Amino acid sequence: MLAARLHGAHDLRVEEVADRALASGEARVRVAMGGICGSDLSYYNKGGVGDFSVREPLTLGHEVSGTVAELAADPLGLAEPGLAVGSRVAINPSRPCLHCQACRAGRSNLCRSMRFLGSAALMPHVQGAFSESVVVRADQCVPVPDSMTLTLAACAEPLAVALHAVRRAGELAGRHVLVAGCGPIGLLCLAAALFAGAASVHVTDLFEAPLRIARQMGALRTIDVRADPAALEQAAADRGGFDAAFEATGASASLVGMPALMRPGGRIVQLGMLPKGGVPLPANLLMAREIDLVGSFRFHEEFAIAVAALASGRIDIAPILSGTMPLRRADEAFRLAGDRQRAIKVHLDLA
Ligand SMILES: [Zn+2]
Ligand SMILES: [Zn+2]
Repeated sequence: MLAARLHGAHDLRVEEVADRALASGEARVRVAMGGICGSDLSYYNKGGVGDFSVREPLTLGHEVSGTVAELAADPLGLAEPGLAVGSRVAINPSRPCLHCQACRAGRSNLCRSMRFLGSAALMPHVQGAFSESVVVRADQCVPVPDSMTLTLAACAEPLAVALHAVRRAGELAGRHVLVAGCGPIGLLCLAAALFAGAASVHVTDLFEAPLRIARQMGALRTIDVRADPAALEQAAADRGGFDAAFEATGASASLVGMPALMRPGGRIVQLGMLPKGGVPLPANLLMAREIDLVGSFRFHEEFAIAVAALASGRIDIAPILSGTMPLRRADEAFRLAGDRQRAIKVHLDLA
């Protein structure tokens, strides 16, 4: 089968890779759609993400959907009820161990033995799903209704990231929210915060194109922090500070500036991946205003919630869909996905 494999920065090859036999409890899924994520782009542009570098060829991709082609015996009953050959599914890229302390505490996103699709965190790497088919554990397959497109199903993963971040933010109903960064995750945090009842959401970015999309998705006010650096402080002052803020840029300066924008008792959720090393924080502001600073990492039960919210149309993410390209044009698709003036979320058609 063909796969989009990264051999090093800017060296993405569409090439033949071997299939493997299923183990007990596993499923083979014929992949339909794959969304290009910020982490895929980081691997492509820098040969790594956060602390992890590509040390052997890595098939990228973890935001995928498809059709079940083969199911092994499932003696532990891991599969969702009704999962069968032919089921259309959103694939949850998380494969936690299910028995460590984090898993047993219901926080399997923090599993120490997590095998996440398309990740260089482990050696050998966990190969991803930008390929014609992929083998996953049966419980990673979440059936979707016939009415749901497989493009939408492939968006469950990034929406789950945003829904988890909203959960980490605590109660948002009636609250004033800031989202820093209008990449796919920032825009989905905007949608998820409104879904959770936020009274207003302000968003920031360095580019006008994604800010325009944020307005389409319901942002009360969009701020180009490069063109108008004072506007954010003014917006915060107008409301006596934000109740909750989502840091989705991964830029140190964005996090460092946030405590000053918060109202006493506010909460900052860090979900962007910051550069290696530390960040100097105005810690006395955190202390004196009792501001909470929490992390948010991937998702757990929010994956199934994301599938349901997208399938029902209760969360509409159409404005972030920027187009689809066939697998053989993967390199071009990655270049488009990395162009913030032209694209938010680009999909590879792997069918
Ligand atoms: Zn992703
Ligand atoms: Zn575990």
